[in-house]
Amino acid sequence: MRKIRVFDTTLRDGEQSPGATLTHREKIMIARQLEKLGVDVIEAGFPIASDDDFKAVKEIAETVKGLSVCGLARAMPKDIDRAWEAIQNAKKPRIHTFMSTSDVHLKHQFKKTRDEALEMSVEAVKLACSYCKDVEFSPMDATRTDPKFLFQVLEKVIEAGAGTVNIPDTVGYAQPVEFGKLIKNICDNVPGIENAVVSVHCHNDLGLAVANSLEAVRNGAGQVECTVNGIGERAGNASLEEIAMNLHTRSEFFGVCTSINLKEIYPSSLMVSNLTGMAVQRNKAIVGKNAFAHEAGIHQHGVLANSQTYEIMDPEMIGNKSQFVLGKHSGKHATKKVLKDMGFDLSDDELKQVTNRIKQLADKQKTVLDEDIVAIAGDVTQQLKKEEKRIVLEEFRIETGNKVKPTAILKLIIDGKKVEAKGTGVGPVDAITNALQSVSPTKVSLHEYHLNAITGGTDALADVEVKIVNGSGKVHNAEAINEDVLTASTNAIIKGINKALANKK
Ligand SMILES: [Zn+2]
Repeated sequence: MRKIRVFDTTLRDGEQSPGATLTHREKIMIARQLEKLGVDVIEAGFPIASDDDFKAVKEIAETVKGLSVCGLARAMPKDIDRAWEAIQNAKKPRIHTFMSTSDVHLKHQFKKTRDEALEMSVEAVKLACSYCKDVEFSPMDATRTDPKFLFQVLEKVIEAGAGTVNIPDTVGYAQPVEFGKLIKNICDNVPGIENAVVSVHCHNDLGLAVANSLEAVRNGAGQVECTVNGIGERAGNASLEEIAMNLHTRSEFFGVCTSINLKEIYPSSLMVSNLTGMAVQRNKAIVGKNAFAHEAGIHQHGVLANSQTYEIMDPEMIGNKSQFVLGKHSGKHATKKVLKDMGFDLSDDELKQVTNRIKQLADKQKTVLDEDIVAIAGDVTQQLKKEEKRIVLEEFRIETGNKVKPTAILKLIIDGKKVEAKGTGVGPVDAITNALQSVSPTKVSLHEYHLNAITGGTDALADVEVKIVNGSGKVHNAEAINEDVLTASTNAIIKGINKALANKK
């Protein structure tokens, strides 16, 4: 069977999702998990974008061994130099360079002619090839580019040494049949195309990213670019798990294979949603909470008799076990093993914290599920550094009810000084927010508030995600987990404000 390469861009395009910023350490953890998942290429970041990006790409390149590590670069010498500097120690380095080719981008964004764009593309590929033998080129906005010009660019960059040519549907505009035809035309008509792998990079603005990617595979594409949970700019990228499970479940139809280790799909999804703070919608295919839940009586009856009646996939196949894994008698070693299986690499001190919290939770509720453990581990690893905690919560009290004005009183330490904050609001969370706003050293507002029960039931862990916006409009995601909804809310809001304060510096 023809093998389709999976190019994961969770750490580059995915991290560009509004508010999904990852810390350095979280990026390394996700990269390690992607290695277990069996992707062929990791796009680790955009090294020229910032020093943080550069450092993360460099460390990922030096950490993971079994796959290619790719750095993104515009078609400019300084970008390519920087990308190479970041990935040169990788076992299998790849430079991915790109230039817009559509008239609308060239005219309004780049102020370049087609000839100039072609020359920049070829020069960029040549420079990249002088460093690295694995070079990928993307003509940005390919689906809105004049095909004649697109084919010419592809021919010239392959001639210049590009081993992979990636066709991005940058704005998520293409339709499956049309996109498949474009890929087939490229495979049939571009001179020299047999010397390159054709890749696709689809966005989900019209909900077609996966459909377009699959149609491209049927028409000759040898690489798909995707992200875990489909996160990414705007409506996101093609989702890795959906592509992998389509190609697997319907392998007789597609006649291709991937090297994805299916059992790592669910753990990867849990980790990415947890660390990015981007929750997975319940009814999301493959990894949504309801993906394998049968509600209709007739379906339940059928599944109990034989799971194949209504299930085309088995949840265990993707590593979704949803079973009791740890309890109050589990020690540090058992916790460590479970967390390691889920891709979390924690220090001894963090491990102790996670073990204690699992014990506390097991005391209160009967079962601790893998989702709970990932949530707790995510909470512990996402703790801010001591110097970033300018606001520390000592104690809080809430009064609420249907006949009283909801009031919050918080005892805080702000920059080393004791401060008491009081606020009222339409409800307890509003009161907490108003109290914190009244004492915050910088202007902040709460833009979004989400409350999730991690594993159902009134004794479940509450997972609160907030978006805090500072005076200049920058969004900071923060999340906190606790058995108590108001404790989780207070901690999440304080964490968000602390992130905004750290960023302001
Ligand atoms: Zn993209």
